[in-house]
Amino acid sequence: MSTVLEFTKELVARRSLTPEDDGCQAIMAARLRKLGFDIEPMRFGSVDNFWARRGSAAPLLVFAGHTDVVPSGPVEQWSAEPFTPTLRDGRLYGRGTADMKGGLAAMTVAVERYVSAHPGHQGSIGFLITSDEEGPSVDGTVKVVEALERRGEKMDWCVLGEPSCLERFGDTLRNGRRGSLTGILTVHGIQGHVAYPERADNPIHRVAPAMAELIATRWDEGNEHFPPTSFQISNFNSGTGAGNVIPGDATVRFNFRYSSAVTKEELKRRAHAVLDKMRVRYDIDWRPMGDPFLTAPGKLSAALQDAVEKVTGIRPRLDTGGGTSDGRFIAPTGAQVIEFGPRNASIHKIDECVDVAELEQLVDVYQDVLRRLLG
Ligand SMILES: [Zn+2]
Repeated sequence: MSTVLEFTKELVARRSLTPEDDGCQAIMAARLRKLGFDIEPMRFGSVDNFWARRGSAAPLLVFAGHTDVVPSGPVEQWSAEPFTPTLRDGRLYGRGTADMKGGLAAMTVAVERYVSAHPGHQGSIGFLITSDEEGPSVDGTVKVVEALERRGEKMDWCVLGEPSCLERFGDTLRNGRRGSLTGILTVHGIQGHVAYPERADNPIHRVAPAMAELIATRWDEGNEHFPPTSFQISNFNSGTGAGNVIPGDATVRFNFRYSSAVTKEELKRRAHAVLDKMRVRYDIDWRPMGDPFLTAPGKLSAALQDAVEKVTGIRPRLDTGGGTSDGRFIAPTGAQVIEFGPRNASIHKIDECVDVAELEQLVDVYQDVLRRLLG
């Protein structure tokens, strides 16, 4: 049985629902300690994280990722128990197989193979592992990065093992992510009888034209690295449940995924202008979830592209789509950050799975990147 498959199964069997780590980090750390890594557990609040480093010289190549997973959803809809890793037709099924315990296992096994072949490698290898990526992300990677910055420990390159590929394994590297800005809009009206609208103020009628304008707005054109900004309403709640009552208020939750062609301040200002123009009475609770970040093509992206092409025969394109990731906390330190991992079609879904052949190839890719960057 393959080493990377065995290790992935071992991790998937642990119910590490955010912020629980359920012992995943201890078994990773134990393997790294055997290779000569110094392990530094960094617990913040209720979140387990660890930092590991082998060597003290520059440059420092870091593998990063998260041991936590999202909930399974209705267990009865899964074809097998989500925390019992199950092999079927060359695929391993279970929560976290693709996002991202397969990636964690592959980076660990790649480093094991690389270090045993090159015990005197140049520079240093690091691991930055959190169990707070799928949740609030306040006591995870961001805190570890702050601790490293405070003591002047500088990452040069960071490979995040997040599932990045779309159609075929090897097709996509992520070299950045869009920014994310959420707004929770409360619209104030006056409750009343539907038969006497002149004595009420319907908040749904007030906000509907404003929403239509926000939906139709073209926020920017994007740029060479980012697609145009998107605005999406995720929740719209109002009404008392009765058919003869005009509600007193309405709540709309929306989200911008924005490019580096706009700023969150500009998006806020323009959203307020639309609501004010329509004379909506409202409050907005703005929740910035992360600014856009970008790693321009360079040494790390070239090493990864070359490694992926060598292993899979496909030259991956650089892409900034998808949801946000912990790369947003690492990129501002000046490190080059690239995400590369398995296909992401099943992540967060019922019957999440990963191809075993992809895991084997992922080990080869990571190992080749180590060789290209550290000799
Ligand atoms: Zn993930």
